[in-house]
Amino acid sequence: AGTEASDEPDDHINVVLRVRPLNMQELTRRDVFHSSFPGSGTIEVDHNSSMRSFTYNVVFEPEATQEDLFDHSGVRKLVDMAMNGYACTALAFGQTGSGKTHTMTGPPQQFQDGKQIDPKMYGLIQRSLFYLFKQLEQQSGSKRIRASYLEIYNEQVIDLLNANHGKYLQVRWSKNRGFYVENLFLVECETVDDLMVVLEEGMRNRQTGSHGLNEFSSRSHSMLTLTIDSEQTDPDDENLAITKRGKLTFVDLAGIEKVKDSNSTAESLFESNNINKSLLVLGNCIASLGDAKKRHGHIPYRDSKLTKLLADSLGGNGVTLMVACITPSSHQVSETMNTLRYASRAK
Ligand code: ADP
Ligand code: MG
Repeated sequence: AGTEASDEPDDHINVVLRVRPLNMQELTRRDVFHSSFPGSGTIEVDHNSSMRSFTYNVVFEPEATQEDLFDHSGVRKLVDMAMNGYACTALAFGQTGSGKTHTMTGPPQQFQDGKQIDPKMYGLIQRSLFYLFKQLEQQSGSKRIRASYLEIYNEQVIDLLNANHGKYLQVRWSKNRGFYVENLFLVECETVDDLMVVLEEGMRNRQTGSHGLNEFSSRSHSMLTLTIDSEQTDPDDENLAITKRGKLTFVDLAGIEKVKDSNSTAESLFESNNINKSLLVLGNCIASLGDAKKRHGHIPYRDSKLTKLLADSLGGNGVTLMVACITPSSHQVSETMNTLRYASRAK
């Protein structure tokens, strides 16, 4: 704690849980809804005939709308802090089909058939982009927003905004910049529409494999990053301007799941090991960061590309919002338990 205590976020890592509604397949199969919500922030899950209870910052029940997620997850605070020079990250995790992409960007189908999306279905990303621009308009100083969008697939970094060049990009480290991706395409965005175009372009280029579990399965982590430079009046001298550089990152993580029951080939097994490895490393970093005693010790960021690139918002003065996504279906309770436990490590 420094002297500017008012600037210090009280919680560096917040975890919210979203339980999606049962889908058609689950309803047709007559899956049982296995979760109950005894009080705010708590979920109970029936597992092997015993009730397990988990508590998070907020639990969103299946009726929660996209707007509810934006209003009550704390993502606004990330945008506010990024405008003030902090590195902030919102990340969604859970098994494939649990609603990660739906939560971050709205129904995933929209980007495939080029339909106009209903703004009601906008996810945390679009809502944050609109909120960011609204806030920036109220500031008088100059501002500059740049966007990048990448995917980490099998521990390889792919540029989603420059997909044609088809090369894997290198993650480097420098004293000034920390970890960064070399030759990553940066798009200057002057309006919120520019950012929406970036989002759509990246979503279209996102690699998805056909997985036995779900046709929208995703084995990659996607990462949209905004670098926000904003000129503000120096609080100590109104004739002086200072420029703050913050970062706002949205990550849609690969699915947390075992693949052994889904016709895995040797290649997809290898992929899944890499996925599990980076999710494991992320879990380890977050568990250490969430522990006040370990927070300032060694954090194993270097063990995966994902955590290297998230190091500044996970550690330092950054703020991270983790959105755990689950289905309430009894059919997938063991995967759900994995997600619930993974989410618990962050507290
Ligand atoms: P994931 O990205 O975790 O694999 P998706 O976001 O693709 O999961 O969700 C799987 C399917 O379920 C999609 O068709 C999505 O639109 C739908 N879905 C997910 N969450 C919700 C929700 N809260 N309400 C309605 N439909 C949802
Ligand atoms: Mg997805």
